[in-house]
Amino acid sequence: MNLVLRGVRVIDPMAGVDRHPADVWLRDGVLAAIDDNIAPDAVAVIDLAPAPGHEPLLVCPGFVDLHAHLREPGGEPAETILSGAAAAAAGGFTQVLAMANTRPPVDDPGRVAAAAARAAAAPLRVLNAAAVTRGLQGTALVDVAGCAAAGAAAFTDDGRNSASTQVLSAALRDAAGCDRAVLVHPEDEVMVRIANPETDDVARGPLRPAACEVSAVDSALAALSLAGRGRLHLQHLSVAGAVRSLRAARDTGAAVTAEVTPHHLGMSAGGTGPASLRKVNPPLRDDADRAALQTALREGLIDAVATDHAPHVDADKGDDFDAAAPGMIGLETALAVCLTHGGMNGHWVPVLIDRLTAGPWRVLGSTSGLHPPRLRAGEPADLVIVDPAQDWVVEAAGLCSRSRNTPLLGSRLRGRVLVTMAGGRCVHLDRAAPSGLASLLETAHA
Ligand SMILES: [Zn+2]
Repeated sequence: MNLVLRGVRVIDPMAGVDRHPADVWLRDGVLAAIDDNIAPDAVAVIDLAPAPGHEPLLVCPGFVDLHAHLREPGGEPAETILSGAAAAAAGGFTQVLAMANTRPPVDDPGRVAAAAARAAAAPLRVLNAAAVTRGLQGTALVDVAGCAAAGAAAFTDDGRNSASTQVLSAALRDAAGCDRAVLVHPEDEVMVRIANPETDDVARGPLRPAACEVSAVDSALAALSLAGRGRLHLQHLSVAGAVRSLRAARDTGAAVTAEVTPHHLGMSAGGTGPASLRKVNPPLRDDADRAALQTALREGLIDAVATDHAPHVDADKGDDFDAAAPGMIGLETALAVCLTHGGMNGHWVPVLIDRLTAGPWRVLGSTSGLHPPRLRAGEPADLVIVDPAQDWVVEAAGLCSRSRNTPLLGSRLRGRVLVTMAGGRCVHLDRAAPSGLASLLETAHA
């Protein structure tokens, strides 16, 4: 591999770079240079300059997903680390934080080490979160220092939220001692149980009023205040009231960050598609909530876009809405949903790229094991090439995930990931990529 990509737009938020036209030189898996009119001897130049009036291709750092359920161990029919990594690569992600709610959950140092060993086989960087409490039951704290030493990049009971303010506060203090963030799935489980008296399984209860989320966000912020230290991260915000609570806390200087999913940015309750495929925790909300989320993401109050990729086998997503498992797959459609329906197209594109790269980096921090998502000459190429204008239709046969639970099947989106390189290797080459890019597959980084 030795080639120059000519005439692209380079967006590198960590370096403050947004440059077009630019050339990118890739040599033996290394990002050799970014400059104007690079013309070394005997190097293939692939002219990617757009036709007049068309948008250039983007070259950006590989995306970072703060929130993926890869289901291994215990849920392999729905996803494995390898199938999840393939889906991530197809979506432009080169680093993914796997949630801890596997079966068994990742809730002690030995299980963190086992998860890290499994993740090492993936062609891109899969980091693991450890649970906050044993069995995600909300009562007994995990060995936070031991889990961090074994490789836990962060701590979260995601999927559940039953820890008391005192337990969460203790987790924030312990995690601060090893410079890790604590990620909270903000749904007040007591309120969810009251709203769903017929349901034993709190995760499947279909009725989840906005107040459940606001209450849980306020409780988590109270735990942070009680802890007096630590970093709190609020997962998948979905309602305007939660954004208001976040804003008030930020205004006081609280160490709190937040994420939003592509589906909460881009889809509303009452949209089209089978109801059980649209069932997700927290639920899809109304357009006023979406507008508040978009505003918060654009201004940086919400730091990151995170997929909450949640694969399920078909049997868990049957016609019975009340019984269906919550969640949808999202790695492969994340960028396109944000561009097409999430209000992040046009001049918001560089902001979206920040929220997929530098934003997640700010959330997890440099001690998490994450690599800085940046384009730096001399480092192994870890980047994505995107055609922001390409239309495509989401088809089951085209997905890399083992699961098909997305309400987007058959719908047309705009914005396509053409190439993903992780650690110097091409880990995804789209069928629609210009033919010259196939030579990226030729050489692995030494
Ligand atoms: Zn969650």
